[in-house]
Amino acid sequence: MTGDVHPAVADRTLVPAPEPLAVPVIDAHTHLDACGCADADDVAATMARAAAVGVQGAITVADDLASARWVVQAAGWHPSVYAAVGLHPTRADRLDEAARAELELLAADPRVVAVGETGLDYYWDYAGPAEQADAFAWHIDLAKRLGKPLMIHDRDAHDDVLAILRSQGPPDTVIFHCFSGDAAMAAACADAGYVVSFAGPVSFRNARSLVEAATVVPNELLMVETDAPFLTPHPHRGKRNEPFALPYTVRALAQIRSVAVDELCHTVMLTTRTVYGLPDL
Ligand SMILES: [Zn+2]
Repeated sequence: MTGDVHPAVADRTLVPAPEPLAVPVIDAHTHLDACGCADADDVAATMARAAAVGVQGAITVADDLASARWVVQAAGWHPSVYAAVGLHPTRADRLDEAARAELELLAADPRVVAVGETGLDYYWDYAGPAEQADAFAWHIDLAKRLGKPLMIHDRDAHDDVLAILRSQGPPDTVIFHCFSGDAAMAAACADAGYVVSFAGPVSFRNARSLVEAATVVPNELLMVETDAPFLTPHPHRGKRNEPFALPYTVRALAQIRSVAVDELCHTVMLTTRTVYGLPDL
């Protein structure tokens, strides 16, 4: 690892390696740069740790412009890494003309399989709701123009996110990353054909409404992700998350949906490949 250590990973021990999965899966949303990766060797080492437990690929997601440049590079360094490019809603105030022009170019790269993460975040107040809504609408339009899936970040903003998607007209594929709604919200997403991706919180012991939501998402709209280095799954909350920790969440989700782990892996692998248009890795 080279350069400065990202604040998200400083002073935190890595989650222990889980039992390997028998059927491979793909981490539908992670942040390899925030996990501490700087160069091609870092990415290779992180993806080797993931592959060793059956996590065969990852979508690494940008949250600002520097990160957008980096994720496109990273996707070029490793055959099982793909990128998503956008400006996180908390950074919506930085979406000026120059940023738009650069994001458009980066998002058009063939290794970029989604536009985002974008959406609304009413938890932090780095950018105001109107600014966030404008930036969200711009990303929706970009996804439609490029014919790529839209990767949504929705924090404490479910109704407004759905309303803006409705009023702007959603692209063909919409993904709610780190889904945080209840069963009614999951049903609304399923009705609209939106893909729902579950991260570590679905494994948390107090995640009752999220657990209920996880039972109503149809197979063809279900994905799993780490959102690493954040949101480390139970029972390792507080430790540093990485793509190789995905099996913890996969096993929790299989239990919630009362299916065998192998079956769930097949299901989410098929959905993830279809959603992002990925070849066999
Ligand atoms: Zn994320």
